Amino acid sequence: MPGRPRNGARPRLTVLRIGHRPGRDPRLTTHVALTARAFGAERMYLHPPDPSLAHRIASVARRWGGGFQVLPADDWRRLVRDHRGHVVHLTMYGEPLDRAVSRLRGLGSVLVVVGGAKVPPALFELADFNVAVGAQPHSEVAALAVFADRVFGPAPIARFRHARRRIVPQPHGKRVIALDAAESPS
Ligand code: SAM
Repeated sequence: MPGRPRNGARPRLTVLRIGHRPGRDPRLTTHVALTARAFGAERMYLHPPDPSLAHRIASVARRWGGGFQVLPADDWRRLVRDHRGHVVHLTMYGEPLDRAVSRLRGLGSVLVVVGGAKVPPALFELADFNVAVGAQPHSEVAALAVFADRVFGPAPIARFRHARRRIVPQPHGKRVIALDAAESPS
């Protein structure tokens, strides 16, 4: 069955961000993409597509490693219907995350959908799970971060191969190693 992880492997995470308004909320959608990448997603589909945003994220991924990409989703409904695995829609109206978390941890390939200002009602029906991170309105970035951390845990370092720079965690100050002579850390 496509939805089950093999040998306790980490589930595969893909994010779909719908309701993006190119030119109006590039910063918010950039933060959704950065959060998806940092929490271990392999890719983020974006509807409607925004090539310049995808380009900026590609440059972050080149510096900080991994193969994360922002891909165009011209037809988000088809993407949701065709997903081989489970579709989780994050919405304040859904089932509480605490109640769903043990079932979600058992999934193998998860497409997480986050919305924008208005969410098409059809999404509630198309999703296998409608999950709330608290029953109050907040943000797609916050919802995705809390969901990914609770269900999947931190992304393994192996997810960020071929980085040109890496942070060495410090209790105070900052330390970054350049892994590529052409790039110096800032
Ligand atoms: N009015 C919108 C609606 O119909 O759901 C909410 C818009 S909210 C600004 C944008 C997105 O943030 C939502 O589509 C959802 O993905 C996410 N979100 C906001 N609050 C959430 C919550 N409490 N739990 C889960 N997701 C949430």
